[in-house]
Amino acid sequence: MMMKEYLKHQVFNVVSDIVAKEGVEAYVIGGFVRDLFLKRKNTDIDIVVTGNGIALAEKVAKKMGNLKVSVFKSFGTAMFRHRDVEIEFVGARKESYNRNSRKPIVENGTLEDDQNRRDFTINALAISLNKENYGQLVDPFNGIKDIENRIIRTPLDPFITFSDDPLRMMRAIRFATQLGFYIEDATYEGIVGNRERLSIVSKERIAEELNKIILSPRPSIGFKLLEKTGILKDLFPELQNLKGVDSVNGKAHKDNFYHTLEVLDQIAPNTDDLWLRWSALLHDIAKPLTKRFDPAQGWTFHAHNHVGERMIPAIFQRLKLPLNEKMKFVQKMVFLHMRPIVLSEEEVTDSAVRRLLFEAGDDIDNLMTLCEADITSKNPEKKDRHLRNFKIVRRKLKEIEEKDQIRNFQPPVSGETIMEVFGLTPCREVGDIKSAIKDAILDGIIHNNHDEAYQYMLTKAKKMGLTPIKKNEN
Ligand code: ATP
Repeated sequence: MMMKEYLKHQVFNVVSDIVAKEGVEAYVIGGFVRDLFLKRKNTDIDIVVTGNGIALAEKVAKKMGNLKVSVFKSFGTAMFRHRDVEIEFVGARKESYNRNSRKPIVENGTLEDDQNRRDFTINALAISLNKENYGQLVDPFNGIKDIENRIIRTPLDPFITFSDDPLRMMRAIRFATQLGFYIEDATYEGIVGNRERLSIVSKERIAEELNKIILSPRPSIGFKLLEKTGILKDLFPELQNLKGVDSVNGKAHKDNFYHTLEVLDQIAPNTDDLWLRWSALLHDIAKPLTKRFDPAQGWTFHAHNHVGERMIPAIFQRLKLPLNEKMKFVQKMVFLHMRPIVLSEEEVTDSAVRRLLFEAGDDIDNLMTLCEADITSKNPEKKDRHLRNFKIVRRKLKEIEEKDQIRNFQPPVSGETIMEVFGLTPCREVGDIKSAIKDAILDGIIHNNHDEAYQYMLTKAKKMGLTPIKKNEN
């Protein structure tokens, strides 16, 4: 197959001219070629040369306008950027592995050796940049056929491929999820047989793959595969524990694993925010821990939002996810995830809406997106009713925010003012007055402005037996 017309970037011609003079061969290889056939945008071009990759990168970069080259000497690779495209060069290599590490022993090799070390047939495709057959596809493992049939398959024995570098198991599941491909049976068995070897892979690399699964159009594909292959129970036992249904006196609760995955799939079209998607994955994480059967109420999961919020730091730490404001955001979403639904089940009062706005602050829209995705009822009427109620909640949120500006609530009368007016040092009374003012605003007794808050402070303080030491100018 000739692919000449797809080699649009100028780098391909520049490389072609240089390698012709030097008497070596060069190919564009890997993800870029795969994505040409899948019609996916890819701005990472990998070029493999039967010779020195770093030297070639430097010559090509010079010719393209003295572009700055980053060299990774220990990997034998070099790359440079050309506008929004990253172009990486590497010498063709042959790899062999030892059992305790995913770092191979590397020797110089041919294009064929280099294709043999690739993880999947669809990632082993190469296109020639050599004058005699410029644009010719080199597809030793029928990768094109696998793209057509939507199949993930290792080029060589899957058992050895996965044992050599167990990260490839996560990559297989990630590609199956991103592309909606089927993992071919022997490849799948290779994963099942090697799952324990994931323990030699760094948590950071695993997290990278997990994040890519979560950001896919249908993340559930990946989590179902992780579960079925047996990877999930070691990697993420809390999520595994959501699976299963208990039944007492013929009353069963829903399977929270599949419910969670449905929520994640439902949120996917509405947000590309990784951390909001993580919130969807973790929103019910404490259900197994809080599950009780009560003869009168049936199954209950009391305070699972709060327990879930507290489970998150340990999960993030173990999975090497960031322990910063991203995590705090996920904790907040998990903690608040039941609030809008409870609200929409009752009559939506202004003060309930104000309280929700106060707690969620600027994250209110994200919280609403999460809650809408959390409706997975199989009963269409019930689902419609909830979604209709959510529309009312959203409308009210907007109206009330316009009126009262609760989103970024700042106390309209400060603690310092209270102390000054009543001659107090920091003490409980100051806090009590402040929260009384806040509650009065949230309950709609007064508006959110200084004057009304000041008057309310005076009334409240009087009831507490406090008298102003000075007539304040207000
Ligand atoms: P994406 O860009 O979507 O993350 P990709 O596979 O195209 O996926 P890279 O991870 O940069 O991007 O990998 C580039 C190529 O290197 C792959 O297409 C594959 O041929 C090869 N490769 C990457 N990781 C491995 C691995 N662990 N084992 C074997 N080959 C690999």
